[in-house]
Amino acid sequence: MEELMKLPYEYDALEPYIDAQTMEIHHSKHHQGYVNKFNAAMENSELKEKSVEEILKDLNQIPEEIKKAVVNNGGGVYNHNFFWGILKKETPFKEDSEIGKAIIEKFGSFDKFKEEFSNAAATQFGSGWAWLVLNKENQLEIIQTKNQDSVISLEMKPLLNIDVWEHAYYLKYQNKRPDYIEAFWNVVNWEKVNELFSEAKS
Ligand code: MN
Repeated sequence: MEELMKLPYEYDALEPYIDAQTMEIHHSKHHQGYVNKFNAAMENSELKEKSVEEILKDLNQIPEEIKKAVVNNGGGVYNHNFFWGILKKETPFKEDSEIGKAIIEKFGSFDKFKEEFSNAAATQFGSGWAWLVLNKENQLEIIQTKNQDSVISLEMKPLLNIDVWEHAYYLKYQNKRPDYIEAFWNVVNWEKVNELFSEAKS
């Protein structure tokens, strides 16, 4: 059983980049919906004592008859938990942080990284996510996932993600997904991403 994660900030904390109304509906309706449907799918399963993270890390353990519901809704629970955690204003990218140095080494510059990540987010066809991960080879990599598929099911450690479902931006940005992505860069919690990177490497 999962519970809806409490946001570590108020709904208006990310204004004007992500508006309070979008945050409230996204968290209290969409995210809550994934939690409810995940719990309903797990109700009679032997896996129900496991956390959503433990379940998503090995999709083979999920019985076929509930697999689709668990992947979609469990992914919805986990991906949003992660997303809320990497959002915060005024925690800018720092070139001399551990993640800062690693990004510059891998992508050439922060701007190049930003461009590549933004492009992955903009070109994810339909609903899904873009991610920065530490992959199996312990390399930084930018990847896209569709629907609520999660990188933790691919043996990858997430460092940063962006929700590009229309529900994440449509109220404020309508069809202009690139404008939402540009605004997102103002609310990335780089302190948190740096922490996640340190943990992922060890
Ligand atoms: Mn969402």
